[in-house]
Amino acid sequence: MRYARKYLIFFGPPASGKGTQADKLGEKLNLPVISPGELLRHERDRGTEIGKQAGPILNRGGLASGEIIEKIINKRLAKKDAKHGFLLDGYPRAISQLKFLNNRFKKIASDNDIILAVYIHVSAKEVKRRIAGRRVCDCGASYHAIYNPPKKQGICDLCGAKLYKRKDDSAEIIKIRINRFNKSIKPILKHYKKNNILININGEQSIGEVEKDIFNKLKDKV
Ligand SMILES: [Zn+2]
Repeated sequence: MRYARKYLIFFGPPASGKGTQADKLGEKLNLPVISPGELLRHERDRGTEIGKQAGPILNRGGLASGEIIEKIINKRLAKKDAKHGFLLDGYPRAISQLKFLNNRFKKIASDNDIILAVYIHVSAKEVKRRIAGRRVCDCGASYHAIYNPPKKQGICDLCGAKLYKRKDDSAEIIKIRINRFNKSIKPILKHYKKNNILININGEQSIGEVEKDIFNKLKDKV
């Protein structure tokens, strides 16, 4: 793999497995995975100034303002481990965010650096099926009734606590989330396609197959 700073942007609908895949690739490339959504929740849980602003919005299932997310991203990008590149998980999700990101790249990336957008495609039908079986634990572990069941039904393998369904995993909210995702992502995908940096991945395969697919399509580029 040649030396250049690498910036990889991971997209996919809810439950597409993009977070898992970003983590795997980040480990392989030795680059940090930056998930603005996760950073926001972290700020909320720590009760920081940013967290206090974003917390109530997040708790209602809403999206934090662009300004708050930009603050969080700038703070994260200033850290040493992001100097050689990074993977972005779940960002940008709107044209204004895309513009912000493009401006950041203009400042931090040079011409021979690599910027790629990886889109993991999963149909709405499959997303619904995946989410319906999803169960989570307060310790951070997550399971799926069919694809990744716990050893004992309803109980976390790691800590023994009772598993539950996330509030935003209900059928109605899922429908809203899928529609919102599809609508917001279209112009962003179009932009990356036009710039010739979009890589399409079939997300309706096993985690291992998706991983292999991503690796094969990226190996000559990174
Ligand atoms: Zn647990």
